[in-house]
Amino acid sequence: MKLFDAHTHIDMKNFQNDREKVISRAKSKGLVGMVTSSIGPGSFRRTLGIVDKHRGYIYHSAGCGVSQLTRNDADTIISLTRKYASNIVSVGEVGLDYHWIKDAAGRKAQEPLFSDFISLASELNLPLVIHSRKAEAEAAEILEREFGGEVLMHCFDGPPAVAQQIEENGWHITLPANFTRSRNRVEAARILPLENILLETDGPYLSPTEKRNEPANIEIGCKMLADTLDLPFEDVAKQTTENALRFYNL
Ligand SMILES: [Zn+2]
Repeated sequence: MKLFDAHTHIDMKNFQNDREKVISRAKSKGLVGMVTSSIGPGSFRRTLGIVDKHRGYIYHSAGCGVSQLTRNDADTIISLTRKYASNIVSVGEVGLDYHWIKDAAGRKAQEPLFSDFISLASELNLPLVIHSRKAEAEAAEILEREFGGEVLMHCFDGPPAVAQQIEENGWHITLPANFTRSRNRVEAARILPLENILLETDGPYLSPTEKRNEPANIEIGCKMLADTLDLPFEDVAKQTTENALRFYNL
């Protein structure tokens, strides 16, 4: 069995007491790798050590906490990403957050920072992982205008019209291991070809269980997607893993 967690946050303090056990559990569930997303300068530096220790198994995507991002932190993340570019597989998560940021000025202020990360991905020839909470259409519009590379809309929860737009652009989405709680996500799973869908946990968030979420739960998300599409578990596992390896150039 081969599974892959395309987006998690293994550096977070939720994992500080048992990180090695969490990674072993992921291996025992058949995960062949995971991409962990750093969300700030401190997180970036922590992730360097973790990725170094688990070379060939854990890969680093360099991004930010979109709703809390400052100009200063964005600049630091950008220079760190340039410095360590040879060990970075993608830029993200970056994007727009209209869930936590509700005022028009605050929303508008996210755009230049987002654009800087888009330029960074172009400059380093890396794919982009997009956070677009309640701002899927707005993020897609900016990406169509400013980016020519590979795009992954992480935890995509947008309406079917945007799912269609993603398909037309040949972009990808990830679905979390609890995705059937969202009607948009179930529709997106049916609209997009399986070749454009990756599985993620977003651990420690979005748990499908009562407990903290972790990469081993990819098995739950894979079963959910297999049931949704009425396909064998093994086929969905194989295809989504291939998709992740291809998207991140692993
Ligand atoms: Zn995340």
